[in-house]
Amino acid sequence: MKLLEYQASELFAKYGLPVQRGVVINAREGAAEKIRAAALRFPVVLKAQVQIGGRGKAGGVQFAESPEEAASLCDKMLGMDIRGLKVNELLVVEKRTITTEWYLSIMLDRYSKAPLLIFSPLGGMDIEETAKTSPDKIAKVPIDPVRGVQDYTIAYALDKTGADKRYAAQLKDIIEKLYRMFFDYYTMLVEINPLAIDPEGNLTALDGKVEVDDNALSYLPDITAYRDKLQEDPQVIEARKVNFLFIPVEEEGDIAVMSNGSGMLMSCIDLITQRGMRIHAALDLGGGATADRITEAVRIMLCRPQVSTVFICIFGGITRCDEVAKGAVAAMQSDAARGKQLILRMEGTNKDEAAKIVAASGLPITVAEGIPNSVEAIYRLKNAG
Ligand code: GDP
Ligand code: MN
Repeated sequence: MKLLEYQASELFAKYGLPVQRGVVINAREGAAEKIRAAALRFPVVLKAQVQIGGRGKAGGVQFAESPEEAASLCDKMLGMDIRGLKVNELLVVEKRTITTEWYLSIMLDRYSKAPLLIFSPLGGMDIEETAKTSPDKIAKVPIDPVRGVQDYTIAYALDKTGADKRYAAQLKDIIEKLYRMFFDYYTMLVEINPLAIDPEGNLTALDGKVEVDDNALSYLPDITAYRDKLQEDPQVIEARKVNFLFIPVEEEGDIAVMSNGSGMLMSCIDLITQRGMRIHAALDLGGGATADRITEAVRIMLCRPQVSTVFICIFGGITRCDEVAKGAVAAMQSDAARGKQLILRMEGTNKDEAAKIVAASGLPITVAEGIPNSVEAIYRLKNAG
């Protein structure tokens, strides 16, 4: 889960990282009063709160000299579209005078199997360009999880990139705090870009990105509360409530795949894709394929108008296939299923009985053996007439 900037900034503040003072605006009405009440020093920066970077280049970061200008910018920016995301909230912060923009992040690196510190003295909006044209200005340092951040970690980063060593102590303090947060919050990525230097020589985080591992959300009530503010897919939310994982795949796809396990789900997606067909969404049922849960899962898939074909692949040792069949039949009897096809592959107890239940229903449900055969069945159905 990716946090919004102001959410990241609240976490930064909790760890004593230097951030700007600001206020969040979520409605045109009362915006001017809210900005005034926050008693911010002008000029200010107005920042669109969307979960993507590059806002600056897309008009999502604007400066205002006065409360009046800020209010009129609120009017303009609330509701604007940034690369497909609607702006529902703005963060208004006191503008810093800055001389330099650095880049700093810690990410989970699967190659070094450790947190990886990435630092560059050429940060800011063109960091991608820096990576291409001046890779020598970017230092990547794995942090040994046993030893943590050491003086030599910082020394190497500054040395390799030719950055000003006077900031070593300040930078170390910031990296240590960020590193603690990286662990406490089960993050995959924490990023400060820019980490700006003002004329007095103080470092401040002017922008923050934090990506938390979804699997850790049950330990993190404060982050779970943030999730409600994010723009999420309605079926993702619906599925989560009943402990399914709904994964939108391709907007243009028309096949929905569901299975009881992510490995099999991925195999199914691979084979279907290899056959030249496209997946709209996948759903992981987790454990326990009971009739009710199958019906609910198919119903969630059928909420998506793009889906023409649903493929259910259940491999259950002791899962009762007759339950799966009953659930599938119930779902296919609904209005939402009209004109749609279902392919059912199942292994487990009472398999033969399950096939009889499907046959007796008279519904457009195809029972297939094994994944490759199922994929062929899907292909034939989609290419018939
Ligand atoms: P992003 O484009 O989504 O990464 O948004 P940022 O928050 O990083 O802002 C983009 C750019 O705006 C930064 O790289 C800075 O150059 C500039 N900027 C943002 N906040 C301030 C500020 O308080 N003072 C100054 N001088 N520039 C700022
Ligand atoms: Mn940024």
